[in-house]
Amino acid sequence: MTDDNPRPFKKVLIVGAGPSGLLLALLLAKHSIPVKVLESASQLDQQPRAAHYGTPAIPEFIRAGIIDQLRANGLILSTMCWRDPDSHEIIAGFDASKVLSDVDGQDLRTHCYVLQDLDELMLKEVKKYGGEVEFDAEVVGVGQDEDGEVGGRAWVEVKRKGGEVEREEADYVVGCDGANSIVRRSLFGDQFPGFTWDAQIIATNTFYDFEGKFGWHDANFIVHPENFFMAARITKDNMYRITYGETPGLTREEYIARQPMKFQQMLPGHPKPDEYKIVNISPYKMHQRCAPKFRVGRILLAADAAHLCNPWGGLGITGGFVDVGGLFDCLVGIWENKAGEDILELYSEKRIEKWQTVINPISQENFRRVSDKDPRTRFERDEFMQLLKKGETDDVLLKDLLLGFMEVRYDFTQHYKVR
Ligand SMILES: Cc1cc2nc3c(=O)[nH]c(=O)nc-3n(C[C@H](O)[C@H](O)[C@H](O)COP(=O)(O)OP(=O)(O)OC[C@H]3O[C@@H](n4cnc5c(N)ncnc54)[C@H](O)[C@@H]3O)c2cc1C
Repeated sequence: MTDDNPRPFKKVLIVGAGPSGLLLALLLAKHSIPVKVLESASQLDQQPRAAHYGTPAIPEFIRAGIIDQLRANGLILSTMCWRDPDSHEIIAGFDASKVLSDVDGQDLRTHCYVLQDLDELMLKEVKKYGGEVEFDAEVVGVGQDEDGEVGGRAWVEVKRKGGEVEREEADYVVGCDGANSIVRRSLFGDQFPGFTWDAQIIATNTFYDFEGKFGWHDANFIVHPENFFMAARITKDNMYRITYGETPGLTREEYIARQPMKFQQMLPGHPKPDEYKIVNISPYKMHQRCAPKFRVGRILLAADAAHLCNPWGGLGITGGFVDVGGLFDCLVGIWENKAGEDILELYSEKRIEKWQTVINPISQENFRRVSDKDPRTRFERDEFMQLLKKGETDDVLLKDLLLGFMEVRYDFTQHYKVR
């Protein structure tokens, strides 16, 4: 680009070095677009959260250039099923390796890699491509020049450890700062339409040999109104994410005290504490919420800052990564003079539409399925499970069904003026 045809903007500031902020920073840095991430914590988040990234997120890992490292170090999740709570017999399930391991030359099966390791990898890659990431930098305020002003600026107010609050400017500020996003609150206050489930879940990372001892699948959902749980492999050496339902309204200490009783009651083999090893445990509330807009002028929102869903089915950051890929395409369009700023309005519109029509209904149904009041009759009432059953002998149907989740993606490059 020459001085006669300067770049239309100079810098993107991202608030939050979680998975969405780091993936956006990586895509931008790799494209030589100056980017800086501000993170309030001193280090990357270590809580047990996402571990499974669904088919729609895989194309983003491919273009971020990290898919080979992920595939080499993590796991591919191929088999998934729903099980009866007493007999643990399979109600319905599938093997994605039959239909997703080679889709036009790409392996689109869900990838599994604990979030902390994924974040670590992306942080290293962001720095490799010249992106900046600053820890201990809490954003305490966000603002911008008048909406739409040409050449206008956005800014954040940053509080550094032991320092004064300082203003830092950029052309765009992207809120990737999670569920309690200050960027979202600066735009909409406490407005985050949707609801919080009247349910409690506890997420653990636990060593227990579900496959070796019981022949279980990579991911297993046990259907029960109270003792529902998920056991999904997250490492090669038998660490599983066990996420289970609990009585709402207890304290963290009470949940931790009840955990051995819950495991003995629910898990196959009814194990005592010396038969497994818990590495992390954390209670979570679940929400279905979506911000009114993902763009106001030069301020944008992505992933959990923009929308929340329950984690059953792993649509949270999968949807967040798809947001980030779309926002990257929009920013590249502007950077390369192939699109005007109005493409950012389209980003907001289309990503909200996808949340409303795909992520919100499917994730709600996923939780209703696993916590069904009558597990024995769920199959008869569940069209998706019935289709999976048919898919056991019909690869075309199974492929269509599993690739149906790609509907959450949207190609913003179709709106470039020059393609
Ligand atoms: C138990 C559980 C299991 C899950 N499993 C899955 C799964 O398998 N697959 C899936 O797709 N999703 C899953 N999810 C959801 C997934 O973890 C989240 O969607 C994801 O972590 C959101 O990423 P994010 O980058 O938007 O926000 P976050 O991960 O919340 O990161 C936000 C970052 O911003 C920083 N920050 C916040 N405020 C500020 C500020 N003011 N200034 C600077 N920095 C700030 C935070 O410190 C943090 O580092 C799960 C969630 C839970 C709870």
